Amino acid sequence: MNNQDVDCGCDQVVQPLLSTAEALSFLTDAAQVTTRHTEVPLEQALGAVLAEDIHSSINVPGFDNSAMDGYAIHLKPEQIDAPGGLSFEVTDRIAAGHQGQALAPGCAARIFTGAPVPEGANTVVMQEECELLEDNQIEIYRPISLGENIRPLGNDIQAGEVILQAGGKLKPQHIALAASVGVDHLTVFNPIKVGVFFTGDELVEPGNPLQAGQIYNSNRYSLVAMLDTLGCEIVNLGNIEDTLGATVEALNQLQDQCDLIMTTGGVSVGEEDHVKPAVEQLGELNLWRIKMKPGKPLAFGKVGQTAFIGLPGNPVSAMVTFLLFARPFIKKTQGNRQYLNVPFQVKTGFDWRRPKPRREFVRVQLDTSDAVPVARQYPKQGSDVLSSMVWADGLVEIPEQSQFEAGELLNFYLLDEMLS
Ligand code: AMP
Ligand code: MG
Repeated sequence: MNNQDVDCGCDQVVQPLLSTAEALSFLTDAAQVTTRHTEVPLEQALGAVLAEDIHSSINVPGFDNSAMDGYAIHLKPEQIDAPGGLSFEVTDRIAAGHQGQALAPGCAARIFTGAPVPEGANTVVMQEECELLEDNQIEIYRPISLGENIRPLGNDIQAGEVILQAGGKLKPQHIALAASVGVDHLTVFNPIKVGVFFTGDELVEPGNPLQAGQIYNSNRYSLVAMLDTLGCEIVNLGNIEDTLGATVEALNQLQDQCDLIMTTGGVSVGEEDHVKPAVEQLGELNLWRIKMKPGKPLAFGKVGQTAFIGLPGNPVSAMVTFLLFARPFIKKTQGNRQYLNVPFQVKTGFDWRRPKPRREFVRVQLDTSDAVPVARQYPKQGSDVLSSMVWADGLVEIPEQSQFEAGELLNFYLLDEMLS
């Protein structure tokens, strides 16, 4: 891919125009997995990314045990699958956590869920199917087969097996599985550190009155919240003065302590802005025009050794480009194996009559009353219309130059998935 500025033959330098796939692969190829990890107790591992494979040193279960409250029975050969009406003497009682005696042929032991099946027993019948007679006998009215209701040793996990793979984000079920094999600590990647700051003369912090021409800074809050969902450690310098000196100072302050620096705004074509020259002064910067809507401009570079991503300023563009590009980059840097967004297919509830030169990510709600969900679009798709992100369930991806009638199957990205 050509990542250099393109000389168009006139005096003007044109930024490279990239497809979404090119921009994404450039970014994810550049992402360096962090090498820092820490051992944490299970209680602190939720949401972290596992840094090493976990092997089980034991079989789970570690012994044949009963799947039911009932009776363990030592069936004699002639009793196996015999028509119902067999009776057995109850000679033992085994609760979970206790070991029973060996069971003689033709005898039964009262047994509870999770208790070890005693030596000699070859089946377990649930209590609802056993009638307890007065002289410590039980009678069972149906045929009984071998091996009923026994959870065999190693049924879930075999000793030596890899139960969790490095690079997975730890959810409750992963932590529980580690506990089930006796592991009490996990080695996880340290959260990556992301430095952020914001510039723009029009921006005012919420809580203050607006003067003419001013707007509230919403990107500061969407960006920090999205980084939070990824478990990043955040160094937030807030709004800085919109001068080259202040911008260089902010970048300098962040570069030694951060794995990534992010800003929003000021990366449009021809923008008079200090972020671009400041990053170039301390490192390198590629300004891309991505063939997508919302969110055409995206900047990627380095400040010293620290990666830099500059998102567009429009609030919807900032969020969408974060989710589609910065999120996979951050997840890979954080050690996550599954760093790419995984779409699923939905039907469009609308026509697309005129082919467009840019790939569009349309904010839609899903109507799930049909077998295949149907996507309905928000009426205002402007990149400044932040309400569309609150209304939407997700984004439908409409490839450039496409044309279709309602009912077209297209990729859909669920916001709940990308924002958790
Ligand atoms: P820019 O990319 O700087 O040209 O900004 C594009 C649009 O996004 C302009 O309308 C800006 O006012 C707006 N914008 C830039 N930064 C922010 C921000 N932090 N919060 C809300 N809107 C912003
Ligand atoms: Mg601006």
